[in-house]
Amino acid sequence: MKISVIGTGYVGLVSGACFADVGNTVLCLDVDTRKITMLKDGIIPIHEPGLDNLVQRNAAAGRLLFSSNYDDAVSHADIIFLAVGTPPDEDGSADLTHILSAARSIGERLTKPAVIVDKSTVPVGTAEKVKRAIAGELEKRGVNVAFHVVSNPEFLKEGAAIDDFMKPDRIVVGADDADAAKQMRQLYAPFSRNHEKFVEMDIRSAELTKYAANAMLATRISFMNELANLSELLGADIEAVRLGIGMDPRIGPDFLYAGMGYGGSCFPKDVKALIKTASDHKQQLHLLTATETVNDAQKNVLFTKLVRFFGGDAGLKGKTIALWGLSFKPNTDDMREAPSRILIKALFDAGANVIAYDPVAREEAKRVLVAEHGEDLCNTRLRIVESARQAVEGADVLVLVTEWKEFRAPDLPFLAEKLKQKAVFDGRNIYDPEAFAAAGLVYEGIGRRSGK
Ligand code: NAD
Repeated sequence: MKISVIGTGYVGLVSGACFADVGNTVLCLDVDTRKITMLKDGIIPIHEPGLDNLVQRNAAAGRLLFSSNYDDAVSHADIIFLAVGTPPDEDGSADLTHILSAARSIGERLTKPAVIVDKSTVPVGTAEKVKRAIAGELEKRGVNVAFHVVSNPEFLKEGAAIDDFMKPDRIVVGADDADAAKQMRQLYAPFSRNHEKFVEMDIRSAELTKYAANAMLATRISFMNELANLSELLGADIEAVRLGIGMDPRIGPDFLYAGMGYGGSCFPKDVKALIKTASDHKQQLHLLTATETVNDAQKNVLFTKLVRFFGGDAGLKGKTIALWGLSFKPNTDDMREAPSRILIKALFDAGANVIAYDPVAREEAKRVLVAEHGEDLCNTRLRIVESARQAVEGADVLVLVTEWKEFRAPDLPFLAEKLKQKAVFDGRNIYDPEAFAAAGLVYEGIGRRSGK
Protein backbone atom coordinates (compact mmCIF):
# COMPACT_ATOMS: atom_id res chain seq x y z
CA MET A 1 0.00 0.00 0.00
CA LYS A 2 1.06 3.60 -0.43
CA ILE A 3 1.00 5.54 2.79
CA SER A 4 1.96 9.01 3.93
CA VAL A 5 2.52 9.90 7.56
CA ILE A 6 2.23 13.56 8.53
CA GLY A 7 4.46 14.34 11.54
CA THR A 8 7.68 12.42 12.16
CA GLY A 9 7.79 12.49 15.96
CA TYR A 10 7.76 9.51 18.31
CA VAL A 11 4.50 8.19 16.87
CA GLY A 12 4.78 9.20 13.21
CA LEU A 13 8.32 8.00 12.61
CA VAL A 14 7.80 4.70 14.41
CA SER A 15 4.48 4.04 12.62
CA GLY A 16 5.96 5.00 9.24
CA ALA A 17 9.02 2.80 9.68
CA CYS A 18 6.93 -0.17 10.89
CA PHE A 19 4.45 0.12 8.01
CA ALA A 20 7.43 0.25 5.60
CA ASP A 21 9.02 -2.77 7.25
CA VAL A 22 6.05 -4.99 6.34
CA GLY A 23 6.29 -3.98 2.68
CA ASN A 24 4.36 -0.74 2.24
CA THR A 25 5.86 2.32 0.58
CA VAL A 26 5.73 5.08 3.16
CA LEU A 27 6.42 8.77 2.82
CA CYS A 28 7.02 10.57 6.12
CA LEU A 29 6.44 14.31 6.10
CA ASP A 30 7.30 16.95 8.66
CA VAL A 31 7.18 20.73 8.55
CA ASP A 32 10.36 20.68 10.64
CA THR A 33 12.87 20.71 7.78
CA ARG A 34 15.75 20.08 10.22
CA LYS A 35 14.23 16.72 11.12
CA ILE A 36 13.67 15.80 7.48
CA THR A 37 17.24 16.72 6.53
CA MET A 38 18.54 14.58 9.39
CA LEU A 39 16.33 11.65 8.39
CA LYS A 40 17.44 11.89 4.76
CA ASP A 41 21.02 11.72 6.06
CA GLY A 42 20.17 8.59 8.06
CA ILE A 43 20.21 10.41 11.41
CA ILE A 44 17.32 9.71 13.79
CA PRO A 45 16.23 12.90 15.60
CA ILE A 46 14.83 11.04 18.65
CA HIS A 47 16.03 8.20 20.84
CA GLU A 48 13.93 5.08 20.48
CA PRO A 49 15.56 1.64 20.80
CA GLY A 50 15.91 -0.11 17.42
CA LEU A 51 14.55 2.80 15.41
CA ASP A 52 17.83 3.70 13.71
CA ASN A 53 18.23 0.23 12.18
CA LEU A 54 14.58 0.03 11.18
CA VAL A 55 14.64 3.44 9.48
CA GLN A 56 17.97 2.92 7.76
CA ARG A 57 17.01 -0.56 6.48
CA ASN A 58 13.71 0.59 5.01
CA ALA A 59 15.10 3.83 3.61
CA ALA A 60 17.86 1.86 1.88
CA ALA A 61 15.23 -0.48 0.41
CA GLY A 62 13.38 2.53 -1.03
CA ARG A 63 10.26 1.83 1.04
CA LEU A 64 10.68 4.76 3.43
CA LEU A 65 10.86 8.26 1.99
CA PHE A 66 11.13 11.65 3.69
CA SER A 67 9.86 15.02 2.58
CA SER A 68 8.72 18.38 3.87
CA ASN A 69 6.65 19.00 0.77
CA TYR A 70 2.92 18.38 1.13
CA ASP A 71 2.56 17.96 -2.66
CA ASP A 72 4.76 14.84 -2.42
CA ALA A 73 2.89 13.45 0.59
CA VAL A 74 -0.62 13.93 -0.78
CA SER A 75 0.08 12.69 -4.31
CA HIS A 76 1.97 9.66 -2.95
CA ALA A 77 -0.67 8.04 -0.77
CA ASP A 78 -3.99 6.21 -0.66
CA ILE A 79 -3.91 6.37 3.13
CA ILE A 80 -2.66 9.48 4.93
CA PHE A 81 -1.94 9.34 8.67
CA LEU A 82 -2.06 12.43 10.86
CA ALA A 83 0.53 11.97 13.62
CA VAL A 84 1.25 15.57 14.54
CA GLY A 85 1.41 16.84 18.12
CA THR A 86 -1.71 17.77 20.11
CA PRO A 87 -0.17 19.68 23.04
CA PRO A 88 -2.28 21.04 25.89
CA ASP A 89 -3.80 24.45 25.35
CA GLU A 90 -3.90 26.94 28.21
CA ASP A 91 -7.34 25.76 29.31
CA GLY A 92 -6.25 22.09 29.34
CA SER A 93 -7.97 21.20 26.08
CA ALA A 94 -6.00 19.52 23.30
CA ASP A 95 -4.62 22.12 20.89
CA LEU A 96 -5.80 21.08 17.44
CA THR A 97 -3.86 23.74 15.51
CA HIS A 98 -1.41 21.25 14.00
CA ILE A 99 -4.04 18.64 13.16
CA LEU A 100 -6.33 21.11 11.45
CA SER A 101 -3.48 22.84 9.63
CA ALA A 102 -2.32 19.43 8.33
CA ALA A 103 -5.91 18.63 7.30
CA ARG A 104 -6.18 21.88 5.37
CA SER A 105 -2.82 21.22 3.69
CA ILE A 106 -4.21 17.87 2.52
CA GLY A 107 -7.49 19.40 1.32
CA GLU A 108 -5.58 22.01 -0.68
CA ARG A 109 -3.96 19.24 -2.73
CA LEU A 110 -6.14 16.14 -2.74
CA THR A 111 -6.95 14.95 -6.27
CA LYS A 112 -7.73 11.24 -5.78
CA PRO A 113 -9.74 9.24 -3.23
CA ALA A 114 -7.97 8.76 0.10
CA VAL A 115 -8.47 7.61 3.66
CA ILE A 116 -7.29 10.16 6.20
CA VAL A 117 -6.40 8.60 9.55
CA ASP A 118 -6.30 10.47 12.87
CA LYS A 119 -3.49 8.73 14.74
CA SER A 120 -2.76 11.65 17.03
CA THR A 121 -4.62 11.63 20.33
CA VAL A 122 -7.57 13.92 19.72
CA PRO A 123 -10.79 14.75 21.58
CA VAL A 124 -14.09 13.22 20.58
CA GLY A 125 -15.45 15.08 17.56
CA THR A 126 -12.06 15.86 16.00
CA ALA A 127 -12.54 13.50 13.04
CA GLU A 128 -15.60 15.58 12.14
CA LYS A 129 -13.50 18.76 12.34
CA VAL A 130 -10.79 17.20 10.17
CA LYS A 131 -13.43 16.16 7.66
CA ARG A 132 -14.86 19.69 7.56
CA ALA A 133 -11.37 21.22 7.19
CA ILE A 134 -10.55 19.02 4.20
CA ALA A 135 -14.00 19.42 2.64
CA GLY A 136 -13.72 23.20 3.05
CA GLU A 137 -10.49 23.28 1.03
CA LEU A 138 -11.93 21.01 -1.66
CA GLU A 139 -14.92 23.28 -1.91
CA LYS A 140 -12.70 26.36 -2.27
CA ARG A 141 -10.96 24.63 -5.15
CA GLY A 142 -14.30 23.61 -6.64
CA VAL A 143 -13.30 19.95 -6.82
CA ASN A 144 -15.08 16.85 -5.63
CA VAL A 145 -12.87 14.07 -4.32
CA ALA A 146 -14.13 11.14 -2.25
CA PHE A 147 -12.32 10.85 1.07
CA HIS A 148 -13.03 9.33 4.46
CA VAL A 149 -11.68 10.22 7.88
CA VAL A 150 -11.12 7.39 10.34
CA SER A 151 -9.81 7.31 13.90
CA ASN A 152 -6.93 4.99 14.76
CA PRO A 153 -5.47 6.02 18.12
CA GLU A 154 -1.98 4.83 18.94
CA PHE A 155 -1.11 2.91 22.12
CA LEU A 156 2.66 2.50 21.74
CA LYS A 157 4.92 3.30 24.70
CA GLU A 158 8.04 5.38 24.19
CA GLY A 159 11.07 3.23 24.94
CA ALA A 160 9.32 0.09 23.62
CA ALA A 161 7.59 1.71 20.67
CA ILE A 162 8.68 -0.63 17.89
CA ASP A 163 7.75 -3.76 19.80
CA ASP A 164 4.42 -2.25 20.76
CA PHE A 165 3.68 -1.28 17.17
CA MET A 166 4.80 -4.58 15.67
CA LYS A 167 3.02 -6.68 18.31
CA PRO A 168 0.07 -4.56 19.41
CA ASP A 169 -2.29 -5.57 22.22
CA ARG A 170 -5.10 -4.20 20.08
CA ILE A 171 -5.65 -2.07 17.01
CA VAL A 172 -8.56 0.29 17.51
CA VAL A 173 -10.21 1.69 14.40
CA GLY A 174 -13.24 3.94 14.36
CA ALA A 175 -14.86 4.33 10.96
CA ASP A 176 -18.19 5.28 9.47
CA ASP A 177 -17.46 3.81 6.06
CA ALA A 178 -17.15 0.09 5.37
CA ASP A 179 -14.57 0.45 2.58
CA ALA A 180 -12.33 2.70 4.66
CA ALA A 181 -12.54 0.21 7.55
CA LYS A 182 -11.65 -2.61 5.15
CA GLN A 183 -8.56 -0.77 3.95
CA MET A 184 -7.46 -0.30 7.55
CA ARG A 185 -8.03 -3.97 8.26
CA GLN A 186 -5.82 -4.88 5.27
CA LEU A 187 -3.13 -2.43 6.26
CA TYR A 188 -2.95 -3.88 9.78
CA ALA A 189 -3.20 -7.54 8.72
CA PRO A 190 0.58 -8.11 9.08
CA PHE A 191 0.41 -6.98 12.71
CA SER A 192 -2.49 -9.17 13.77
CA ARG A 193 -2.95 -12.80 12.77
CA ASN A 194 -6.51 -13.37 11.51
CA HIS A 195 -7.30 -9.76 12.44
CA GLU A 196 -7.85 -10.96 16.00
CA LYS A 197 -6.44 -7.76 17.52
CA PHE A 198 -8.51 -5.53 15.27
CA VAL A 199 -11.28 -3.77 17.21
CA GLU A 200 -13.64 -1.85 14.98
CA MET A 201 -16.09 0.69 16.34
CA ASP A 202 -17.67 4.04 15.62
CA ILE A 203 -15.39 7.06 15.35
CA ARG A 204 -16.39 8.79 18.58
CA SER A 205 -15.88 5.65 20.66
CA ALA A 206 -12.43 5.15 19.12
CA GLU A 207 -11.47 8.71 19.98
CA LEU A 208 -12.67 8.26 23.56
CA THR A 209 -10.95 4.87 23.92
CA LYS A 210 -7.50 6.44 23.79
CA TYR A 211 -8.34 8.92 26.55
CA ALA A 212 -10.03 6.21 28.61
CA ALA A 213 -6.90 4.04 28.44
CA ASN A 214 -4.53 6.80 29.50
CA ALA A 215 -6.90 8.06 32.18
CA MET A 216 -7.15 4.55 33.67
CA LEU A 217 -3.36 4.12 33.69
CA ALA A 218 -2.77 7.53 35.23
CA THR A 219 -5.36 6.76 37.90
CA ARG A 220 -3.63 3.49 38.81
CA ILE A 221 -0.40 5.42 39.33
CA SER A 222 -2.02 8.07 41.49
CA PHE A 223 -3.82 5.39 43.49
CA MET A 224 -0.53 3.66 44.26
CA ASN A 225 1.21 6.93 45.06
CA GLU A 226 -1.48 7.90 47.50
CA LEU A 227 -1.27 4.49 49.18
CA ALA A 228 2.52 4.76 49.24
CA ASN A 229 2.31 7.97 51.21
CA LEU A 230 -0.11 6.31 53.60
CA SER A 231 2.19 3.27 53.90
CA GLU A 232 4.95 5.53 55.14
CA LEU A 233 2.75 6.97 57.85
CA LEU A 234 1.63 3.49 58.91
CA GLY A 235 5.06 1.87 58.84
CA ALA A 236 4.07 -0.43 55.96
CA ASP A 237 6.00 -1.03 52.73
CA ILE A 238 4.20 -0.21 49.47
CA GLU A 239 6.40 -2.71 47.61
CA ALA A 240 5.04 -5.55 49.70
CA VAL A 241 1.52 -4.22 49.25
CA ARG A 242 2.06 -4.00 45.48
CA LEU A 243 3.02 -7.66 45.31
CA GLY A 244 0.14 -8.61 47.57
CA ILE A 245 -2.50 -6.95 45.40
CA GLY A 246 -0.91 -7.43 41.97
CA MET A 247 -1.27 -11.22 42.09
CA ASP A 248 -5.03 -10.82 42.07
CA PRO A 249 -5.89 -11.28 38.38
CA ARG A 250 -8.65 -8.70 38.69
CA ILE A 251 -5.96 -6.15 39.57
CA GLY A 252 -2.90 -7.48 37.71
CA PRO A 253 0.76 -6.68 38.42
CA ASP A 254 1.43 -3.97 35.80
CA PHE A 255 1.38 -0.27 36.35
CA LEU A 256 1.26 -0.51 40.12
CA TYR A 257 4.51 1.23 40.87
CA ALA A 258 4.70 4.08 43.32
CA GLY A 259 7.15 6.79 42.35
CA MET A 260 7.56 10.47 41.60
CA GLY A 261 4.29 10.83 39.72
CA TYR A 262 3.51 10.31 36.06
CA GLY A 263 5.04 12.58 33.43
CA GLY A 264 5.76 12.44 29.74
CA SER A 265 4.00 13.86 26.76
CA CYS A 266 0.77 11.87 27.12
CA PHE A 267 -0.67 11.17 30.57
CA PRO A 268 -0.62 14.73 31.94
CA LYS A 269 -2.06 16.28 28.81
CA ASP A 270 -4.59 13.54 28.10
CA VAL A 271 -5.94 13.57 31.66
CA LYS A 272 -6.30 17.35 31.44
CA ALA A 273 -7.97 17.17 28.02
CA LEU A 274 -10.51 14.57 29.17
CA ILE A 275 -11.40 16.65 32.23
CA LYS A 276 -11.88 19.64 29.93
CA THR A 277 -13.99 17.68 27.44
CA ALA A 278 -16.24 16.54 30.28
CA SER A 279 -16.55 20.04 31.72
CA ASP A 280 -17.47 21.35 28.25
CA HIS A 281 -20.36 18.91 28.51
CA LYS A 282 -21.21 20.05 32.05
CA GLN A 283 -19.87 16.90 33.69
CA GLN A 284 -17.22 16.93 36.36
CA LEU A 285 -14.82 13.97 36.34
CA HIS A 286 -14.25 13.70 40.11
CA LEU A 287 -11.96 10.69 39.96
CA LEU A 288 -9.70 12.10 37.26
CA THR A 289 -9.53 15.48 38.92
CA ALA A 290 -8.25 13.68 42.03
CA THR A 291 -5.79 11.68 39.90
CA GLU A 292 -4.31 14.93 38.70
CA THR A 293 -4.21 16.55 42.15
CA VAL A 294 -2.45 13.51 43.63
CA ASN A 295 0.03 13.52 40.77
CA ASP A 296 0.88 17.20 41.13
CA ALA A 297 1.61 16.65 44.82
CA GLN A 298 3.60 13.48 44.18
CA LYS A 299 6.06 15.28 41.95
CA ASN A 300 7.19 17.15 45.08
CA VAL A 301 7.48 14.15 47.37
CA LEU A 302 11.21 13.63 46.89
CA PHE A 303 11.95 17.29 47.35
CA THR A 304 10.00 17.26 50.61
CA LYS A 305 12.09 14.28 51.76
CA LEU A 306 15.28 16.16 50.86
CA VAL A 307 14.13 19.23 52.78
CA ARG A 308 13.41 17.05 55.80
CA PHE A 309 16.79 15.34 55.51
CA PHE A 310 18.66 18.64 55.37
CA GLY A 311 16.69 20.09 58.29
CA GLY A 312 14.55 22.55 56.32
CA ASP A 313 14.70 24.57 53.11
CA ALA A 314 17.69 26.57 54.28
CA GLY A 315 19.64 23.36 54.85
CA LEU A 316 19.68 22.71 51.10
CA LYS A 317 21.39 25.99 50.27
CA GLY A 318 24.82 25.35 48.78
CA LYS A 319 24.40 21.57 48.92
CA THR A 320 25.08 19.43 45.85
CA ILE A 321 22.48 16.89 44.83
CA ALA A 322 23.38 14.14 42.37
CA LEU A 323 20.58 13.01 40.06
CA TRP A 324 20.58 9.73 38.20
CA GLY A 325 18.18 9.99 35.26
CA LEU A 326 16.53 13.01 33.66
CA SER A 327 14.16 11.68 30.98
CA PHE A 328 10.56 11.09 32.06
CA LYS A 329 11.13 7.34 31.86
CA PRO A 330 13.90 4.94 30.78
CA ASN A 331 14.83 4.24 27.15
CA THR A 332 13.77 7.61 25.83
CA ASP A 333 15.28 11.08 25.55
CA ASP A 334 11.84 12.65 26.03
CA MET A 335 11.90 15.39 28.67
CA ARG A 336 8.28 16.51 28.26
CA GLU A 337 6.73 16.87 31.75
CA ALA A 338 9.62 14.88 33.25
CA PRO A 339 9.49 14.80 37.08
CA SER A 340 13.22 15.66 37.06
CA ARG A 341 12.31 19.15 35.86
CA ILE A 342 10.10 19.84 38.87
CA LEU A 343 12.76 18.52 41.23
CA ILE A 344 15.52 20.57 39.60
CA LYS A 345 13.43 23.73 39.77
CA ALA A 346 12.71 23.16 43.47
CA LEU A 347 16.43 22.50 44.13
CA PHE A 348 17.44 25.67 42.28
CA ASP A 349 14.84 27.66 44.23
CA ALA A 350 16.27 26.29 47.48
CA GLY A 351 19.79 27.31 46.45
CA ALA A 352 21.15 23.79 45.85
CA ASN A 353 23.48 22.69 43.06
CA VAL A 354 22.72 19.76 40.79
CA ILE A 355 25.04 17.24 39.13
CA ALA A 356 23.03 15.07 36.79
CA TYR A 357 23.62 12.11 34.55
CA ASP A 358 21.27 10.44 32.06
CA PRO A 359 22.31 7.74 29.59
CA VAL A 360 20.67 9.43 26.55
CA ALA A 361 18.74 12.57 27.49
CA ARG A 362 21.75 14.78 28.36
CA GLU A 363 21.53 17.02 25.29
CA GLU A 364 17.76 17.28 25.35
CA ALA A 365 17.79 17.95 29.10
CA LYS A 366 20.35 20.70 28.66
CA ARG A 367 18.26 22.32 25.94
CA VAL A 368 15.07 22.15 28.01
CA LEU A 369 16.67 23.30 31.28
CA VAL A 370 18.51 26.21 29.69
CA ALA A 371 15.23 27.31 28.09
CA GLU A 372 13.50 27.02 31.48
CA HIS A 373 16.09 28.54 33.82
CA GLY A 374 18.40 30.53 31.57
CA GLU A 375 22.01 30.01 30.58
CA ASP A 376 23.46 31.79 33.65
CA LEU A 377 21.73 29.71 36.29
CA CYS A 378 22.44 26.47 34.42
CA ASN A 379 26.12 27.38 34.00
CA THR A 380 26.59 28.06 37.68
CA ARG A 381 24.31 25.55 39.42
CA LEU A 382 23.93 22.62 37.05
CA ARG A 383 26.45 20.15 35.71
CA ILE A 384 25.37 17.41 33.33
CA VAL A 385 28.09 14.80 33.35
CA GLU A 386 29.06 11.80 31.25
CA SER A 387 28.74 8.93 33.73
CA ALA A 388 26.77 7.81 36.76
CA ARG A 389 29.96 7.64 38.83
CA GLN A 390 30.99 11.15 37.85
CA ALA A 391 27.63 12.49 39.06
CA VAL A 392 28.32 11.20 42.55
CA GLU A 393 31.78 12.78 42.89
CA GLY A 394 31.48 15.75 45.23
CA ALA A 395 27.73 15.29 45.83
CA ASP A 396 26.08 15.35 49.24
CA VAL A 397 23.32 12.87 48.42
CA LEU A 398 22.11 10.89 45.43
CA VAL A 399 18.58 10.88 44.01
CA LEU A 400 17.48 8.12 41.62
CA VAL A 401 15.02 9.86 39.33
CA THR A 402 14.65 7.60 36.26
CA GLU A 403 15.07 3.84 36.54
CA TRP A 404 17.46 3.22 33.64
CA LYS A 405 18.91 -0.30 33.65
CA GLU A 406 22.44 0.92 34.27
CA PHE A 407 21.38 2.32 37.66
CA ARG A 408 19.94 -0.94 38.91
CA ALA A 409 23.01 -2.49 40.50
CA PRO A 410 24.99 0.41 41.98
CA ASP A 411 28.42 0.03 43.52
CA LEU A 412 27.35 0.58 47.15
CA PRO A 413 30.82 0.88 48.71
CA PHE A 414 31.62 3.52 46.07
CA LEU A 415 28.45 5.47 46.93
CA ALA A 416 29.16 5.18 50.64
CA GLU A 417 32.67 6.49 50.08
CA LYS A 418 31.77 9.37 47.74
CA LEU A 419 28.47 10.75 49.03
CA LYS A 420 29.30 13.30 51.69
CA GLN A 421 26.09 12.66 53.59
CA LYS A 422 25.87 8.96 52.75
CA ALA A 423 22.23 9.07 51.70
CA VAL A 424 20.30 7.83 48.67
CA PHE A 425 16.75 8.84 47.73
CA ASP A 426 15.16 6.24 45.50
CA GLY A 427 12.36 7.89 43.50
CA ARG A 428 11.41 4.62 41.81
CA ASN A 429 11.75 2.04 44.59
CA ILE A 430 14.25 -0.05 42.64
CA TYR A 431 16.73 -0.66 45.45
CA ASP A 432 16.84 -2.99 48.42
CA PRO A 433 16.73 -0.85 51.58
CA GLU A 434 18.49 -3.53 53.66
CA ALA A 435 21.47 -3.69 51.27
CA PHE A 436 21.87 0.07 51.45
CA ALA A 437 21.69 0.03 55.24
CA ALA A 438 24.29 -2.75 55.34
CA ALA A 439 26.59 -0.57 53.19
CA GLY A 440 26.25 2.26 55.68
CA LEU A 441 23.91 4.33 53.52
CA VAL A 442 20.70 6.05 54.55
CA TYR A 443 17.96 4.88 52.18
CA GLU A 444 14.69 6.67 51.47
CA GLY A 445 12.23 5.22 48.98
CA ILE A 446 8.63 6.14 48.23
CA GLY A 447 6.25 4.58 50.72
CA ARG A 448 8.82 2.19 52.16
CA ARG A 449 10.56 1.45 55.40
CA SER A 450 13.82 3.33 55.36
CA GLY A 451 16.13 0.32 55.93
CA LYS A 452 18.06 2.20 58.58
P1 NAD B 1 6.04 14.80 18.52
O1 NAD B 1 5.97 16.17 19.09
O2 NAD B 1 7.19 13.92 18.83
O3 NAD B 1 5.91 14.87 16.93
C1 NAD B 1 4.97 15.65 16.25
C2 NAD B 1 5.60 16.08 14.93
O4 NAD B 1 4.60 16.72 14.14
C3 NAD B 1 6.74 17.09 15.07
O5 NAD B 1 7.90 16.57 14.44
C4 NAD B 1 6.22 18.34 14.36
O6 NAD B 1 7.24 19.06 13.69
C5 NAD B 1 5.23 17.76 13.39
N1 NAD B 1 4.21 18.70 12.91
C6 NAD B 1 3.54 19.64 13.62
N2 NAD B 1 2.66 20.30 12.83
C7 NAD B 1 2.78 19.74 11.59
C8 NAD B 1 2.12 19.97 10.34
N3 NAD B 1 1.16 20.87 10.23
N4 NAD B 1 2.49 19.23 9.28
C9 NAD B 1 3.46 18.29 9.41
N5 NAD B 1 4.12 18.02 10.55
C10 NAD B 1 3.77 18.74 11.64
O7 NAD B 1 4.68 14.10 18.96
P2 NAD B 1 4.43 12.55 19.32
O8 NAD B 1 4.93 12.26 20.68
O9 NAD B 1 4.84 11.71 18.18
O10 NAD B 1 2.83 12.57 19.42
C11 NAD B 1 2.01 12.75 18.27
C12 NAD B 1 0.58 12.44 18.66
O11 NAD B 1 0.49 11.06 19.05
C13 NAD B 1 0.06 13.23 19.84
O12 NAD B 1 -1.30 13.49 19.65
C14 NAD B 1 0.26 12.29 21.02
O13 NAD B 1 -0.65 12.55 22.07
C15 NAD B 1 -0.04 10.97 20.37
N6 NAD B 1 0.61 9.83 21.03
C16 NAD B 1 1.89 9.93 21.49
C17 NAD B 1 2.49 8.83 22.08
C18 NAD B 1 3.89 8.94 22.63
O14 NAD B 1 4.29 8.04 23.39
N7 NAD B 1 4.67 9.94 22.28
C19 NAD B 1 1.80 7.62 22.20
C20 NAD B 1 0.50 7.54 21.70
C21 NAD B 1 -0.09 8.65 21.11
